[in-house]
Amino acid sequence: MKIDCEVLGYRSLFVLANGDVVPCCHMSAAKVHQWYWDNTDGKENLHEHTLQEIIDNRLFKAVHESWDGDDAKVCFACRKVCRVGKEKNDEFRYEDL
Ligand code: SF4
Repeated sequence: MKIDCEVLGYRSLFVLANGDVVPCCHMSAAKVHQWYWDNTDGKENLHEHTLQEIIDNRLFKAVHESWDGDDAKVCFACRKVCRVGKEKNDEFRYEDL
C-alpha cells in the first residue's frame, strides 16, 4: 500500500488541547481505533514529556514503519486518509472502527 502523507513535507505535528501530540489531525481521530493503542507507549503528552521524547517514542516510529510493511498493519488513519488511489469518499466512518 502506498501512502502519500499530507504532513511529512511540512515537518509539522498536531497538539491536542490536553497536551497529547500526534503526527497529524487525522491521527487524533485515530485514537478511537485499536491500532493507536497497539502502537503507543503512552508517552505522547507534553505535560509529562519533552517534544523530542514524544517524537522519538513508539507511536511516531510505528506510523512511519507501518507504511512499509504488511497492508493490514498500516496505521488506520494513514490507510483511510492518505492511501494513494483511495476512493474520494473513503474517509473516516465510525462504522469502520
Ligand atoms: S494520516 Fe498518516 S499519512 Fe496521513 S497525514 Fe497523518 S500521519 Fe501522514
